[in-house]
Amino acid sequence: MNFINSREFARALDANDALAHYKSEFIFPKIKGKNAIYFTGNSLGLQPRSAGKYVDDIMEDWANLAVEGHFQAEKPWWDYHERFSKKLGKLVGAKPEEITVMNTLTVNLHLLMVSFYNPEEKRYKIICEEKAFPSDQYMIASQVKFHGYDPADAVVEVKKRPGEHHFRTEDILKKIEEVGEECALVLIGGVNYYSGQVMDMKTITKAGHAVGAKVGWDLAHAAGNIELELHDWDVDFAAWCSYKYMNSGPGNASGCYIHEKYHGRTDIPRFEGWWGHNKERRFLMEPHFQPEPNAHAWQISNAPVLALAPYLASVEMFDEVGMPALIKKRDLIVAYLEFILHEIDREVKGNFEIITPPKQEDRGTQLSVFLHGEGKELFKYLMENGVITDWREPNVIRLAPAPFYCSFEDMFEFGQILKRGILE
Ligand SMILES: *Cc1c(COP(=O)(O)O)cnc(C)c1O
Repeated sequence: MNFINSREFARALDANDALAHYKSEFIFPKIKGKNAIYFTGNSLGLQPRSAGKYVDDIMEDWANLAVEGHFQAEKPWWDYHERFSKKLGKLVGAKPEEITVMNTLTVNLHLLMVSFYNPEEKRYKIICEEKAFPSDQYMIASQVKFHGYDPADAVVEVKKRPGEHHFRTEDILKKIEEVGEECALVLIGGVNYYSGQVMDMKTITKAGHAVGAKVGWDLAHAAGNIELELHDWDVDFAAWCSYKYMNSGPGNASGCYIHEKYHGRTDIPRFEGWWGHNKERRFLMEPHFQPEPNAHAWQISNAPVLALAPYLASVEMFDEVGMPALIKKRDLIVAYLEFILHEIDREVKGNFEIITPPKQEDRGTQLSVFLHGEGKELFKYLMENGVITDWREPNVIRLAPAPFYCSFEDMFEFGQILKRGILE
């Protein structure tokens, strides 16, 4: 498509957008009395209007039914978490049995590493990407230390080549082969949080398995953003937070995927609790743990239903729309934003560098822009003038036009504000 940097053109794209009406299903922060242009759905998604009702329903059931709400609530609390499995499974390409929702992301990755990182004398190393999200770095280092290893030896980072912004799949594969039978686990972010690069999860998973390692993915920036086929890719395990693209609310629960080949097994190490026990016998209070025959076996505690409620509201919206429609709009709006960035760059004789991969198949919703020569003042200017972006040192802004609630006119408007911010 030949794009034009004009309000009329942007409005025409909006008029053609089958998802345009979803914008009004979300609540926007206001800046100077106007709805903000929101680019930080990759950090904290906006609140769906339906979320409040899901929370209120639980508050009401609690008031009216108290303890009876566990079984008598309209959506009973004792198996509330099971309501996610089918819909989330569809969103991430997994069978319903392979999905559960619990805790928060880093906690879940720790729990999954209890099951899937079992170092032995020779095979004890973990491969991850350099400059992984800090929580992942701390988590991986603390796991290897817990097992008595030195992170300097047991954690192997794949590096980008000097002067390049992306990881090359061939370099990851080479590293996996190099570490070979010493590799216990490959654990990488499926979409890089800094650059927005989408990893070739299928190929990397296969390569990890070829050397006998387990392969897990941190899908914090992938869930609700890109197409995933976790089951078909034979991924061992994965987890994601739900408050980024999935719009579930601050600090909210994490989704987990565990391949079905590990279900029902009692020989897998796992930290266990009563919510993972055979559902039908959970309240008989028996002494020995019998795992649920699915991913729910990894549950530990009572489900935090008040937190899960807005997540469920959001998952139902995702289910209604489906990833293919979101991805279709995503690719168009990201391409339009990219075009506008290049246009403004040309007009102001700037020096922007988009460090997100240029090919559609290597990126999702996020464009990370290196603003050579522009400082943090520009970021502040954008914020004061109605555009919420995200700043990363040294001078990168990350722009994620979430297809659910960003419009093409937002992209045009952003370009105009950006231009004024640079020229003023
Ligand atoms: C956002 C993010 C996290 C956050 O972890 P929490 O446990 O939810 O605080 C972890 N890892 C990655 C890659 C992230 O992008």
